[in-house]
Amino acid sequence: VSASPQSEAEVAALVAAIVDPAATTIDRDGRIPRELIDQLAACGWFGWNVSPAYAGSGHDDNALGRRHALVGSACSAVRAVLTAHAMVCAAIERWGRDDQRVTWLPALARGHALGAFALTEPEHGSDASAIATSFNKDKDGDGYRISGRKCWITGGTVATVFVVFGRVGDSHAAALVPADSVGLSIRPSAQLHGFRGAMVADIDLDDVAVASAMMLGRPTATLSFVVAHALELGRLLVAWGAVGMIRTLLSLTLSHAATRRQFNARLLDHQLVQRRIADMTAGLRAATLLCESASRMRSAADPAGALEGVVAKYTATRAAREAAQSTVQILGASGLREGVAERFLRDSAVLELIEGSTEISQIIIARSAALAL
Ligand SMILES: Cc1cc2nc3c(=O)[nH]c(=O)nc-3n(C[C@H](O)[C@H](O)[C@H](O)COP(=O)(O)OP(=O)(O)OC[C@H]3O[C@@H](n4cnc5c(N)ncnc54)[C@H](O)[C@@H]3O)c2cc1C
Repeated sequence: VSASPQSEAEVAALVAAIVDPAATTIDRDGRIPRELIDQLAACGWFGWNVSPAYAGSGHDDNALGRRHALVGSACSAVRAVLTAHAMVCAAIERWGRDDQRVTWLPALARGHALGAFALTEPEHGSDASAIATSFNKDKDGDGYRISGRKCWITGGTVATVFVVFGRVGDSHAAALVPADSVGLSIRPSAQLHGFRGAMVADIDLDDVAVASAMMLGRPTATLSFVVAHALELGRLLVAWGAVGMIRTLLSLTLSHAATRRQFNARLLDHQLVQRRIADMTAGLRAATLLCESASRMRSAADPAGALEGVVAKYTATRAAREAAQSTVQILGASGLREGVAERFLRDSAVLELIEGSTEISQIIIARSAALAL
């Protein structure tokens, strides 16, 4: 990590200089160039949420989120890889043992190691409690043997270490599993509609040995603590990414609508176009305020922060999807050409599925409203 962490303005400048110009190619090629990852690592981006004690910059949730919004305003793939990595760092820092922190966090913070979060399985997506990957006591060693399949794992094709979740009898467990473990195989997931450059992978674990020193958190508390802690952060950062996306979409829409003329008037002067712009503007404002509020509450360990994060994610990702649809509509045929509008239209569909889909968010929000009666 550089001597002093980059300021938000420096991050914004780097996004404009090297992330934004690479975004279309990243989407087309389905990968982030290694040189770009190395450049971002050298600037400390992979250690944004790691404590300075472990070579990170220790940003609070608001500062971290604002940085994810900046990256998300240019490239969802880079933002997604940073988010998954941040979730792994958070899980280790909060629930790892001292030796795991010392071994993994400095390497992760410097981007010398990349983390990926392996929860989803082919048969178990939204219902994470049903995951079937098995952790069996190793008869020959002191740890476990893991067998199962994981899918759609962001950053999976380039990860150095996975946090793998599974089942020990009736309970759940998590372990740090290096990507080069014997019995672990990685292949790129099928070509995706959105997030094409996020290097998403399917992982097979065939009797992979993990020492007990690699187990993360206590088995009985895996779902409610390790998974919940990481997903809360992931959800918040996805919401911030959506804020960044809406900012870009709004500015693209405004500049087009201010110059394109149809029926002897600028598009901006047609009231039906104004309605879409009003919705985008209001959506951006609501999403930003909710993200700020959820970030403050999470940093303050406010117990109501988790729900605020769900509301922020629900609001921001729906607003991003609607904004992308509006931008493409207002840009007309030119909005469907390869470029940021059509890319964000595809990426915003993914935002509504990951880290708790729109429907799962609705269920959580409605249940909590009912409980408050
Ligand atoms: C690009 C991308 C990156 C991803 N990265 C990761 C990653 O890094 N790590 C990881 O572990 N996973 C990752 N995922 C997986 C993602 O978390 C899952 O796709 C998500 O949890 C939804 O699971 P599913 O796709 O199996 O859909 P399902 O759970 O099968 O749901 C299908 C549909 O049914 C709806 N649904 C489900 N239950 C209910 C209900 N009770 N009531 C109403 N509707 C319901 C859902 O909202 C959804 O619309 C990624 C996915 C994508 C596409």
